[in-house]
Amino acid sequence: MAVEPLLFELSKPGRRGVTFPAADVPETPLPAGLARASLSWPEVSEIDVIRHFTRLSQKNHAIDVGFYPLGSCTMKYNPRVNEVTARMPGFAGIHPLQDDRTVQGALELMYELQEMLAEISGFAAVGIQPAAGAHGELSGVMVIRQYHIANGQHEQRRKFLVPDSAHGTNPATAVMAGYEVVTLPSDDRGNCDLEAVRAAVGPDVAGMMITNPNTLGFWDEHITEIVDLVHGCGGLVYNDGANFNAILGIVRPGDVGLDVMHFNLHKTFSTPHGGGGPGSGPIGVRAGLEEFLPGPRVRFADDHYELFTPAHSLGRVHGFHGNFGMMVRAYTYIRMHGAAGLRRVSEDAVLSANYLRTQLQDRYQIAVDRTCMHECVFSANRQKANGVKALDIAKRLLDFGVHPPTVYFPLVVPEALMMEPTETESKESLDYFIATMRQIADEAETNPELVQGAPYTTEFKRLDEAGANRKLNIVWKAPAEEIAAAAD
Ligand SMILES: *Cc1c(COP(=O)(O)O)cnc(C)c1O
Repeated sequence: MAVEPLLFELSKPGRRGVTFPAADVPETPLPAGLARASLSWPEVSEIDVIRHFTRLSQKNHAIDVGFYPLGSCTMKYNPRVNEVTARMPGFAGIHPLQDDRTVQGALELMYELQEMLAEISGFAAVGIQPAAGAHGELSGVMVIRQYHIANGQHEQRRKFLVPDSAHGTNPATAVMAGYEVVTLPSDDRGNCDLEAVRAAVGPDVAGMMITNPNTLGFWDEHITEIVDLVHGCGGLVYNDGANFNAILGIVRPGDVGLDVMHFNLHKTFSTPHGGGGPGSGPIGVRAGLEEFLPGPRVRFADDHYELFTPAHSLGRVHGFHGNFGMMVRAYTYIRMHGAAGLRRVSEDAVLSANYLRTQLQDRYQIAVDRTCMHECVFSANRQKANGVKALDIAKRLLDFGVHPPTVYFPLVVPEALMMEPTETESKESLDYFIATMRQIADEAETNPELVQGAPYTTEFKRLDEAGANRKLNIVWKAPAEEIAAAAD
């Protein structure tokens, strides 16, 4: 396969994408400190740039290209109206260093987003600065830490309880916030084991991080008992809200007694993931914890919106105010749906997941046989008996234009295949996926080598994924001779 040139390799000295007419007004230098003295950009024409980025965009699967049932990630369609509002000059063209009085509309949007998320989730206050789910987790657990510091209990409370079905970011967050992680097992209905919680709570526990609905796709049947147990020992409960898409308008986590939760605007509220733009992971807190939220936050004071930092704030967790463009998109999404529409989102997401569950259960082993919420988890154990692993099935799906489900997570399910169809897929696309999965199950029986050798139709075959993670290399460096030539 030919390796295409990088943009820097196309660079020719003096080549330009856009040429401006000579200025007919005096030139004004940029304010000191705003521009770097030297920065080597590739010198390329406009069409070079367009072709380069268009080619890159075609190498990846995307929600705009096909079905994307990546469990736990809520890869729903990103409505284009979000993009229209985010590009409005009054939002896109402002600068975070502008005087607050000149950006009242933007502050109003941030304020209303805080209020709407609080209303949807049942929390007293929402801080919208964190830039991702994991970042929200860290900010939220730091809120809990601030709370214990304020109560003079920080020194004695060293432990955080985390169920074994948790996303890897949960234990990582607890450790980053300075805690010792105590892992709790799941029970055979896919809940966190209640007896294990009972045995683990004590005066040394700062709190618990629970994901509800959890990563097996279930509402924890003991959530109120768990909350009571943790509160009973003086700890607080953090809810990983990545799976909020299952319960919008149906149950509010704040009403269940959970103390802190993050939202993934790039999951539940349809802002793009990853390469589509930065994320946003606001956190909600129950009454009494507002003063620990990161700052600055937005409030309405008499006749204008203003930024303020709460009294015992854990501090700033992001430059300026967070990823504002994502706030505009999420705000748009919420306004476009309204309360009834958001409830419908969750009802349809849960319906889609249960449709997959019932249509595939005769061919793939279900992890836990229970009506699921927004996602369903299978195991490729049956196929593995023929030498076909979850990874092989994932790769084979690529040949059918489908993004693989999440594999090997949650860790408690061997050969896990975790599917989250979301509410934005038609019945036809769900049926196509079901038919494809059933065909792959047939292939695994009759022609396992075919599945083991997939994918066949993608530009790249199997990549060294472990190597790519462990030896991450995302920086392009010019060969030494080019650097020398440029310096001449
Ligand atoms: C996605 C996810 C996270 C992390 O969110 P990011 O925005 O990717 O940082 C945490 N927990 C669960 C259960 C998730 O699915």
